[in-house]
Amino acid sequence: MYCPFCSNKETKVLESRINDDSLRRRRECLKCRNRFTTYEKASFSLTVLKKDGKVQPFDIKKISQSIEKASGKADQEIISKLTKKVEQKILRKKTNPIETLHIGRFVLQELKKYDKIAYLRFASVYKSIDDPKMLEKEINQIVKQ
Ligand SMILES: [Zn+2]
Repeated sequence: MYCPFCSNKETKVLESRINDDSLRRRRECLKCRNRFTTYEKASFSLTVLKKDGKVQPFDIKKISQSIEKASGKADQEIISKLTKKVEQKILRKKTNPIETLHIGRFVLQELKKYDKIAYLRFASVYKSIDDPKMLEKEINQIVKQ
């Protein structure tokens, strides 16, 4: 990291602080003695392959929104917990681009553990169950468990 004031390469770290998603470092330039802050953040560029063949940048917000929609009245804490789990599964899969099909499956897996009704609600959209018999089959499967 070059000093933004004089472009010198040598800096001293005065203080490091770990936040939820980043590492903050307070630095001092060894040449001009000016102080500045740097941030370290994990980054990855994941893309999503949609059913229609289009590729889109991965957006975690879309996942939390669909979980929120499916779960109806679930509180934010549960939604963000489920979203985090889905995100971890996606990252561990290490497929880039990842198909929406897989993402949907991960969401279903997490929803199923949390709330059967939310699971069915999401499944009816995700699996495009417009056939009432299919939906009945899904419900029977859950009842049996
Ligand atoms: Zn400097």
